[in-house]
Formats: sequence, C-alpha cells, structure tokens
Amino acid sequence: MSWHASILTLFPEMFPGPLGSSLAGRALERAIWSLDVRNIRDSATDRHRSVDDTPFGGGAGMVLRPDVVDAAIGAVADGRPLVCLTPRGRRFTQADASRFAAGPGVILLCGRYEGIDQRVIEARCAEELSIGDYVLSGGELAAMVLLDAVVRLLPGVMGAAESATEESFSADLLEYPHYTRPAEWQGRRVPDVLLSGHHAAVSAWRQAEAERTTRERRPDLWAAYRSPPHAAPGAP
Ligand code: SAH
Repeated sequence: MSWHASILTLFPEMFPGPLGSSLAGRALERAIWSLDVRNIRDSATDRHRSVDDTPFGGGAGMVLRPDVVDAAIGAVADGRPLVCLTPRGRRFTQADASRFAAGPGVILLCGRYEGIDQRVIEARCAEELSIGDYVLSGGELAAMVLLDAVVRLLPGVMGAAESATEESFSADLLEYPHYTRPAEWQGRRVPDVLLSGHHAAVSAWRQAEAERTTRERRPDLWAAYRSPPHAAPGAP
C-alpha cells in the first residue's frame, strides 16, 4: 500500500493543485503516494448543510462546528496521524517531515474562517502544527506545504539528481551555496576550491560555508547545532 494522505477541507477543488506537478506530481502518477480529498460540508447534517457558527464569548468571524468536523474525521480515520493545520500549533519542521514520511500517511485537517472548535481537536488527539509565524486564510496551502516536504522524502521519489542527504536542516545546518557553469559570469568567479577537484578540500569548504551561513542567518539553528550532541569537545 502506498503512502496515503487524506485532506479534510471546505475547498476540495484546490487539490492536488501544485502537488500535481513536478516531483510530487510524478510520484502521484507513479502511485508512490495517493491522495483523497473530502469536503467537510459532506458531513453536515442540517438541511442548510451548515458547517460553522458564531463564536461563544463573542467576537468576529465563524468557527467550524465540532460535530461536523468530527464526522468528517470519522469518515477517513484509520490510525494514520491526524494533523490540524493552525497558526496556534508547534512549528512544522524537517524532523516532522521525516517522521510522517516513515509512517503510513497522514490525515490533514484544514481550517477556515476563525478556525475549528478546540474540543474536536482535543477529542481526536490531533497534532496541531503551524507552517510559520503568519496567518493564512485557510489550512489548504499549509497542508500542501507539509505534503510537499513529506512526499519528496518517500523512497523512490527523489533520484540521485535531487538528493536529500546534505540539504538544509538535515544536520541542523543550512546548506552551503551552489554554483554551476560558466566558471566566471559577469566578472564573478566560482570559489577556486570547487574547481580544484580536491574532494576533502571541497567538503571542508562546504562545511565551513554551511556553518557560516547558519551562524549569520539563523542564530536559533546555530545554537541548537552548537549544543550537544553536535558540538566538538572543547570547541569555543
Ligand atoms: N483565528 C486564527 C486564524 C485562523 S486562519 C488565529 O488567530 O489563530 C484560518 C485557518 O487557516 C486556520 O484554521 C488554519 O487551518 C489555517 N492557517 C492559517 N495560518 C496558518 C499557519 N501559519 N499554519 C498552518 N495553518 C494556518
């Protein structure tokens, strides 16, 4: 059985969207992964097919009802991890992507409006994840971001041409910069060491560049990298 993603959304027509192209799209065609998209509205029970209501306590916007969302989850739940996309969640990371890629698949719950009644998130033990510190208008793009990051890690999706072994975050570091022909362009030369054919020197340069970039751009990642178990004994 291939890795399987279920999406619960009020806008099913948004899928597969960008996941139907390039690496993820080819893997979908080759059945390395599969996708089903369920409209949350199909789980509504009243004659108006309503999915939301006004928030208790007042305030702007609408909240997705717990009974409707619970029925939508129940229609697809089979033991796969359930993720609720929300800016209130813990930040989604490359480690999460690896963890999901190693499992049977995921069920992704996409909110809209003000969000989802918290009781159904708790009752269904959904893992609340955010893709970053900004507010989107719905969880669909966030679900696509998560799926893109996971699907490329599935066995057979990336060839040697798109290797994941050295890339950013795989060792708590940002990746080193890349260069290709021509060796000189608009007066800018590729670093000499990359033309030297000296593999050990190239590796050392790439490691140093990865460390410098991470230190300069992402003090948070740098601090994590410098704390055990990575830190060399006696390093300053
Ligand atoms: N009132 C909410 C925001 C709702 S945005 C709050 O302030 O926390 C509407 C929906 O978009 C959310 O239910 C969620 O599913 C999705 N969403 C918005 N920003 C997101 C983010 N950074 N990561 C993941 N999902 C997000």
